Amino acid sequence: MQVVIIGGGAAGFFSALSVKEHFPAADVTILEKSLKVLAKVKISGGGRCNVTHACFDNVALSKFYPRGEKYLRKAFEEFNAQSTIDWFKKRNIILETLPDNCIFPKSNSSQTIIDCFVNEANNKGITIKLQSSVKSISKNELNQFLIQTNDSEIIADKVIVTIGGQPKRNGLEWLENLGHKIIEPFPSLFTFNMPGNPISELMGNVVEKTTVKIESTKLIASGPLLVTHWGMSGPAILKLSAWGARILAEKNYEFAILVNWLDDLKEDQLRNQLELIILKNGDKKITNLNPFPMTNRLWNFLLEKTSINKEIRWKELGKKNLNKLINTLINDRYEVKGKTTFKEEFVTAGGISLEEVDFRKMESRRVEGLFFAGEVLDIDGVTGGFNFQAAWTTGWIAGKKVLA
Ligand SMILES: Cc1cc2nc3c(=O)[nH]c(=O)nc-3n(C[C@H](O)[C@H](O)[C@H](O)COP(=O)(O)OP(=O)(O)OC[C@H]3O[C@@H](n4cnc5c(N)ncnc54)[C@H](O)[C@@H]3O)c2cc1C
Repeated sequence: MQVVIIGGGAAGFFSALSVKEHFPAADVTILEKSLKVLAKVKISGGGRCNVTHACFDNVALSKFYPRGEKYLRKAFEEFNAQSTIDWFKKRNIILETLPDNCIFPKSNSSQTIIDCFVNEANNKGITIKLQSSVKSISKNELNQFLIQTNDSEIIADKVIVTIGGQPKRNGLEWLENLGHKIIEPFPSLFTFNMPGNPISELMGNVVEKTTVKIESTKLIASGPLLVTHWGMSGPAILKLSAWGARILAEKNYEFAILVNWLDDLKEDQLRNQLELIILKNGDKKITNLNPFPMTNRLWNFLLEKTSINKEIRWKELGKKNLNKLINTLINDRYEVKGKTTFKEEFVTAGGISLEEVDFRKMESRRVEGLFFAGEVLDIDGVTGGFNFQAAWTTGWIAGKKVLA
């Protein structure tokens, strides 16, 4: 049986290897449109490839996906983060878990993963055709697939589509023409631009525990926040960009955020803390006594933003300024105008609608014998190895079921 995989990326290779593992006699070909396979794996995780995340509860793991959670929860029963670790271990690839639970090859090089896939594909007799860009597929009278590429027509019994995220809808047109519903693609995982905002002078400042909300929405995320020279980044911002990807696209990336610089501290708790400081350290100058886990530069910036005379003593703060300070510390408003792609990891949300796919097999509900895996689906995760995990999981299942 001829199995053709369209796209030589993470999901494409994992699908191809899964086909050969489950059906060693199958004739497997990967069609890759560019000159190189696994290009994104190469640059992933800053060149180190964050292959998965140390989260071994399938329900908890699925919660890291703004789109696809419900479908992946079931799929993880078949292949999850532990399966990924075991898969690489079987191929003598040593992985290492970092304190933030992100898992990388111990070599600290994405080339280790690429070499593993390419060697394994060569050993298993998988054919790789480069510069083969698929333009359309149809079926012939024998119920086989006719795959039209830029320079040839290829026949296949089964097809697995792993073309990755398509930034524009027209990249999915040939799949739409087969009857699949497409969810409009839009970017996820980006940082927030705040042009001209003086906060950018504090670039490099990190506050480890913050909570950030998008004004007038229910979107909220917690985690470290990094001030950059263009605005704000860090896990809290990236998570918000992922969960809010669609809403923020609709707002044309113009919105306001409210930052709680003190984790999720509530107003009355903060008021008690500040009143205690006034009581105990009332004679100290406000500028010199920064009671919070933030740099003195940020502390002084927030005092200035609140229009508090930094030279006054704590006991001279007064009720009005106390209220203003509380508001700045836990409800600090910034206007966002535009986004910047996160250099470490960005993904495309949207793609093939998940309703169109039988996740037990990853087979299309529209076209028998056609399977999907990876980012071409309307699945995306936050940063931390989740996007590759989705590629491995869906690729594994597609390969296992393609000839079953
Ligand atoms: C800079 C960067 C860093 C990242 N780092 C991480 C990370 O550390 N951890 C993580 O989990 N995720 C990371 N991601 C996300 C991750 O790379 C993707 O989610 C993952 O590569 C998706 O795999 P895929 O095989 O579905 O798609 P891709 O890797 O995009 O592969 C699709 C392949 O299909 C080919 N193709 C497309 N159209 C056609 C066609 N018509 N015919 C033939 N071939 C075609 C493409 O050329 C490509 O080679 C990162 C992303 C970026 C951009």
